[in-house]
Amino acid sequence: MTSAPPPATALQITPSAPISRELHGWRAKCLQRLVRMQLPVPRSFAIPADTVRMIAQGRRIQPDALLDIFAGSGLVSVRPSAAMPEWGGPGTVLNVGINDALHARLAEVIGRDNADAVYLSFVQSYAIHIARLDPDLFTQDGPDALAASLRHYQDEMDQPFPQDPTEQLSEVLRSMARAWDGPTARLLRQAKGAPADAPLGLVVQEMALALGPGICGSGTIQFIDPVTGTPRVTGRFRGQRHGATVGAGAETLFLTRDDRGPALEDTAPEIFADLVRFGIAARERLREEMQIEFVVTEGRISVIDATRVARGSRAGVRIAVSLARDGIIPPEEALMRVEPRALADLLHHQVDPRAPRDVIARGIDASPGAATGRIVFSAASAQSAHARGEPCILVRRETVPEDIRGMHASVAVLTERGGTTSHAAVIARGLGLPCIVGASGLTIDARARTVRAGSRILHEGDEITIDGSSGEVLAGAAVLLPPALDDAFTQLMDWAADAGGMGVRANADTPEDARAARRFQAQGIGLCRTEHMFFDAERLPAMREMIFADTPEDRRLSLDRILPMQRQDFASLFEIMAGLPVTIRLFDPPLHEFLPHDREGLRELAESLDLPLSDVTRRVEALTEFNPMLGMRGVRLGITVPEIYDMQARAIFEATVQASRKGDPVVPEIMIPLVSAMREVELVKTRIDAVAAAVRNEMRTDFTYRLGVMVETPRAALRAGDIAAHSAFLSFGTNDLTQMTYGLSRDDAGRFMGTYVGQGVYAEDPFHVLDQDGVGELLLIGVQRARAQAPGITLSVCGEHGGNPESIAFCHQAGVDYVSCSPFRVPVARLAAAQSAIRNRPPVPRS
Ligand code: PEP
Ligand code: MG
Repeated sequence: MTSAPPPATALQITPSAPISRELHGWRAKCLQRLVRMQLPVPRSFAIPADTVRMIAQGRRIQPDALLDIFAGSGLVSVRPSAAMPEWGGPGTVLNVGINDALHARLAEVIGRDNADAVYLSFVQSYAIHIARLDPDLFTQDGPDALAASLRHYQDEMDQPFPQDPTEQLSEVLRSMARAWDGPTARLLRQAKGAPADAPLGLVVQEMALALGPGICGSGTIQFIDPVTGTPRVTGRFRGQRHGATVGAGAETLFLTRDDRGPALEDTAPEIFADLVRFGIAARERLREEMQIEFVVTEGRISVIDATRVARGSRAGVRIAVSLARDGIIPPEEALMRVEPRALADLLHHQVDPRAPRDVIARGIDASPGAATGRIVFSAASAQSAHARGEPCILVRRETVPEDIRGMHASVAVLTERGGTTSHAAVIARGLGLPCIVGASGLTIDARARTVRAGSRILHEGDEITIDGSSGEVLAGAAVLLPPALDDAFTQLMDWAADAGGMGVRANADTPEDARAARRFQAQGIGLCRTEHMFFDAERLPAMREMIFADTPEDRRLSLDRILPMQRQDFASLFEIMAGLPVTIRLFDPPLHEFLPHDREGLRELAESLDLPLSDVTRRVEALTEFNPMLGMRGVRLGITVPEIYDMQARAIFEATVQASRKGDPVVPEIMIPLVSAMREVELVKTRIDAVAAAVRNEMRTDFTYRLGVMVETPRAALRAGDIAAHSAFLSFGTNDLTQMTYGLSRDDAGRFMGTYVGQGVYAEDPFHVLDQDGVGELLLIGVQRARAQAPGITLSVCGEHGGNPESIAFCHQAGVDYVSCSPFRVPVARLAAAQSAIRNRPPVPRS
């Protein structure tokens, strides 16, 4: 085609050959390691990626350069060798080089039928995959199949089947090189994280014969269970068979002794022992659990390939830990090998990846884990089911604060609407409940008590499984694996603690959350959302009374009824977290959320307050806001209805004294939400100081506390310098900060997030992964201005991003002191923080 010199030829893979992963791919590099270990690897050759690229563009390797490859058995295989195994590549082609002459010679060695099988399988694969002929013409088997296939080839191509092995090989190489360049392959590898122009090397290997006299066949062996990661030999030996080439008397054997049929361990113990020996050596030298592919020719083993064992998350943790425990890799490498989000699978039940899945709907995977239960459509039904001891799944269009008790009573939650930071998602993550939100393919008819999923209609009481890790709703009860908080998990977490790095606290509102936080070794509570405490059946009436009070004095009286309960809430948290910091956020939501939303509720409220219905309705309407998320909430409420914060501050201080008398002194951290101006902090601080002074006086004891501010509005980030002057700490509430930076409702974004991410408007859901360019810039500005003003100030992130590995790495680099996330995400965050510390560790100076 051009006059440029022919591309570089294949390089034999010897112990010293200059083979590199970048140029020749992982498979070539791996084979070289096996060769160096002196394992019986057939002669293999690596074709570098630049040559493959030129072949794809129409250039050919000089045929002479390929001749040497056929010097052995005369048959070769060609396999892809991309830089990373997960990037895949075109399928392996076996038996290249077979022609009439070799067929005749082979017939004498391995028998006519076997020689026919080898030739036939190559003709079929060449015709279909290389010459791209109609597959229907090449599906025959039986004694005449070879002759028929050769005839069909000639009829279709107007020329006989190519007899020159180098021509066959050139065509195979060309076809594989071009397949790699095709749009489908490109998209597939991009989905696995490969660049669009990722290089492909190819490996050409002399074939060991798997068909013939004596013990012949091919197989794979691995030494680890791919789901649990526990040691177990798995694989098969396929006697008289290699890929699609099936010889006479083909029989599949188990590797180890098995009640279901014959095993290689019994029929050929010395072959089995050699395989085990090779496996142990490969694990040590390649520093990985490998699956070995082998061929047996008349009782002799050839190791033809080795690949990293494909594994689920549980196995991933166990394998990394056991390699490190055996001294094969250092503990820090084990930490780096585990994908932090994989840990979430270990903390919860998981749908067994081997089991069938009947998927009926999909949504956003809002909280990981899996659970099976019967459908209920209301919080009340969930509570009744719970009382009967029946696991149930709360299915709602969306959840509201009133659903909290229903969520507590359910084993999982499914909503038609919402996104990753909507109410259902945040609460479910906090409770460790599997949850799917934004399942927009569902149509819920709460009156008829049905939910339609495509063509299927499910009724209240029907059983479903929620897979919150994949976002899939499954019909019926799926097979579940139990959580795997085993010794491997504990060991990995201990190594993560040793690696140091940013702190990790938990967002915990209840004693149950706090206990989970301790179990996962959180370094304290970084966010206690106090408003959930007001929805309790005992407190809601007092809360409503407070909302309807006409004077500050009346408000105080109602709040006084809540005070002892609130004090107990905090005292329990302090006790459980003994010795660790607890950050309590003052009341945040709009008051309207505490009022009934339907006529029946309003009537009941009028009755309990002893007011006319019209009064109650008017007051509820007066509290209604067009945009409550930007309205009277957070510190705005704290300033306009200061009695609420006064009561909370008193409860915190009294609990501090109470807990400090029982154990270590407590230094509570009080956090003001939704601040946008420094003056707001001054005003609240003055009142809280006054409450502290009063409590010190009344209880005749001293205590200290730290007052901090949540940075949730863009203005607070920009004015972080002023605000820091009055704060002991700042905590970035990146949920609201994202909502306000984008002008994007947390509760409604789910409706179009799929489209937006699908069309590349957003690379990711910004409520899930911190938007580093926009929200991240505000965070960096906030960090820098706060530190310039108050170098010793504590900075943290307590939005949902605090549990997201990529966002954690960003926060670490931004100089944040700790992140805080749902208790069940603490292990994920701890691993991500450790990885970020290891990655950014300054190089050890040479002595
Ligand atoms: C936030 O806004 O990031 C936050 C932590 O507070 P909430 O999610 O309760 O609004
Ligand atoms: Mg917030």
